[in-house]
Amino acid sequence: MTQTQDDDDDHLRDHCGVFGIFDHPEAAALTYLGLHALQHRGQESAGITSSDGRELYHHRGEGLVADVFTPASVARLLGPHAVGHVRYSTAGGSGLRNAQPITARYGGGQIAVAHNGNLTNAGTLRTRLEAEGSIFQGTTDTEVIVHLVARSRATSIEGRLIDALRQIEGAFSLTVLTEDKLIGVRDPHGVRPLVLGRAGASWVLASETCALHLIDARYEREVLPGELVVIDASGLSSRRYLPDVDRRACVFEHVYFARPDSEVFGRSVYSVRRALGRKLAAESPAEADVVIPVPDSGLAAAIGYAEASGVPYGMGLVRSHYVGRTFIEPTQNIRHFGVKLKLAPVAEVIAGQRVIVIDDSLVRGTTSRKIIAMLRSSGAREVHFRISSPPITNPCFYGIDTPSRSELIAAQHSVEEIRAMLGCDSLAFLSEAGMLEAAADARGGFCDACFTGRYQIPLIDPELAALAR
Ligand code: SF4
Repeated sequence: MTQTQDDDDDHLRDHCGVFGIFDHPEAAALTYLGLHALQHRGQESAGITSSDGRELYHHRGEGLVADVFTPASVARLLGPHAVGHVRYSTAGGSGLRNAQPITARYGGGQIAVAHNGNLTNAGTLRTRLEAEGSIFQGTTDTEVIVHLVARSRATSIEGRLIDALRQIEGAFSLTVLTEDKLIGVRDPHGVRPLVLGRAGASWVLASETCALHLIDARYEREVLPGELVVIDASGLSSRRYLPDVDRRACVFEHVYFARPDSEVFGRSVYSVRRALGRKLAAESPAEADVVIPVPDSGLAAAIGYAEASGVPYGMGLVRSHYVGRTFIEPTQNIRHFGVKLKLAPVAEVIAGQRVIVIDDSLVRGTTSRKIIAMLRSSGAREVHFRISSPPITNPCFYGIDTPSRSELIAAQHSVEEIRAMLGCDSLAFLSEAGMLEAAADARGGFCDACFTGRYQIPLIDPELAALAR
């Protein structure tokens, strides 16, 4: 990723999305569609493994789902069962050898694992496994899980998986395929989402409900934290592989990562984002003529802010959806055009107005500065910047790609310093309490370590613990 692309999309990046389907005549094609719906969760590689009951078939590649698969490659993925994965590299770096699902043959048969999350003891386990003779092909923590499964002395795949799951720490939502079973697993803290649905008589697993909607599958329920669901010819069975612990669902799924048409952690993402905007309006009002979102991520929060404040909502920025990879290597002189490829101001909404701009989060501040300059050059009289989450001050070790603390603008500067750097008339963030109230549900607590530095899921690997200090 070049600096320019970073500049033009200054957001934290989700690690992965996972999908699985059992007993459907078009399993690979529906997995392809499911991955399409989850594309926002990972754009660097994609992969599908299918099973016809005897053999596993794989296709993986670097790039977007539509680039990785052709009708011919999907047609070669035989059988009624499949799992799929989209990936943005965090742990383990990018490259095809780290693309998922990770597949292997072991004493008990064949296995494919697709993982969303990040293990916090992968380095420690890997060192132990290598000392005991394991040979790793890539650098992902998912491969650690596969090795633990292969080395287990349990006789069933469920037993082998449970052996492995009891040794790993951190965030993981998994879809696992063997020749004749589809298995879904969530870590005991429930950090990353995983949902269960039905397409006719077939069972479906997916990171978000938007993948179910696309294939006309019915949402059944979340896979619960600490639950292992096994789907085979005799139906679905469920077991808890570890006792209950406090839920630590990633609050950033609601703030930014998940699609607004999804339901995650049992709540509509759109309604939570709107509630975040309403809270923000109550906490940080501004005298203004119009509320505009930074599209698309600020849309729902801006609607909530406008509703609660009574300031009219306007479409002050238009997003181009046709920006692919940058086609020229920009020189310093034209680098600033980058953000204009993605966002264009609507002068009619902005000129002469006092504008409240809503975005979901602030990472480096690079894009925000350009947006504010763009609004001013379109005639905005005042620009009041409002962020529907607290300042990000700490890295994430649970499956999200975060810049180092030195690059996080809020880790380095006060709110007033950031306001001056961005060039807006006022700047305010939603409070931690406001965010947690807006996202609250009956099912338990949230992780918000990137806002607070409170890492409530143990960081076992010494290098992670050192980075957290
Ligand atoms: S640290 Fe932030 S991004 Fe990471 S899991 Fe926690 S809330 Fe989510």
